[in-house]
Amino acid sequence: MPFCPNCRAEYQEGLKKCPDCEADLVDELQEQSPQSINYVLLRTLPSRLYAEMLQEALKKEGIPSIIKSDDIAITFPSYGTTSAVPVSIWVPKEDVKRSEQIANQMMDHI
Ligand SMILES: [Zn+2]
Repeated sequence: MPFCPNCRAEYQEGLKKCPDCEADLVDELQEQSPQSINYVLLRTLPSRLYAEMLQEALKKEGIPSIIKSDDIAITFPSYGTTSAVPVSIWVPKEDVKRSEQIANQMMDHI
């Protein structure tokens, strides 16, 4: 299915240009974060629980974050059981310094 890279809308097969913004349609949208935010790795954590705690702390400061774990599990199958798979947490590049501080503070309290 063709997609518009600007509107991120899906269109009927055969269309070449977006009816809304006239951009050339692409076959597949690039894997993109919401609002095209550039996310960077903040921490790798031993479990999803820690990641969710950190995500909660970041949210209170208004910093969006993404928790990733599945791709790591595939890359390193030797980690074994899924409960022990390390989880990574990603934050917008411009918030990484603030996020570091929040993460450090949180780790002190665990
Ligand atoms: Zn468009």
